[in-house]
Amino acid sequence: MRSVVDFAPEDVILDRAAILGSQGIPEEAELTENFERIYGEAIELFKELTEPAGIICGISISGFEEVFRGEGLNEPSNPVEDIYRKSGYLSLFAVTLGAVLSEKVTELFDSGDYASGYMLDSVSSYAADKLSDLAARNLQLELTAKEPAESQWRVLSYSPGYCGWNMSGQKKLFEVLRPQEIGITLNESYLMSPIKSVSGVLIAGSGKIHEFVSSYHFCDTCRTKSCIERMRNL
Ligand code: SF4
Repeated sequence: MRSVVDFAPEDVILDRAAILGSQGIPEEAELTENFERIYGEAIELFKELTEPAGIICGISISGFEEVFRGEGLNEPSNPVEDIYRKSGYLSLFAVTLGAVLSEKVTELFDSGDYASGYMLDSVSSYAADKLSDLAARNLQLELTAKEPAESQWRVLSYSPGYCGWNMSGQKKLFEVLRPQEIGITLNESYLMSPIKSVSGVLIAGSGKIHEFVSSYHFCDTCRTKSCIERMRNL
């Protein structure tokens, strides 16, 4: 079933240590007054301008096969393909923080206020990731409400552009999900607008299905190694 998900701005909890950590700043670092001002202003701008929204659409494994195949450019061996085939439930999703916030980031950079632009971009990127985590948590609650045994399941998000799923996969995903309804569009380079949007598939199943060894050839150039942290938290 396809449905629009309502999020409130306060649903996105901003974790200062994680946001600063994403900039390479350790928690115990002593920060200047000027830095604190820029950080505080970015948080206030985020609260004022964010308009979070989401859309999800349940899909069968055979239906997702076609979406995942996309333009035929995925890596021949990749973790997403192995995981989705073992899933108990799949849902396409897209979430966004809205156009106004993304436009403000661009405006700050364009005006030469790089420090404020970088900080708001950093806060927004963190928040967009948290919004996709919220979509996953909502799905987990929904599945558990229908079938209590599924409380043991873990729901994780996977997106085109990562882990061997080619970015061009966005095209098919958009054709099926149609997130234009909540204001997310795709350009010819498969980039989403607003920029602070995340799309992909939510994969639900036992924690074990999400476990794998990150030894694919493309892992050598992966900067985040985010799968390691995700598997640790299963
Ligand atoms: S190391 Fe990076 S590319 Fe490889 S599976 Fe993990 S997150 Fe994906």
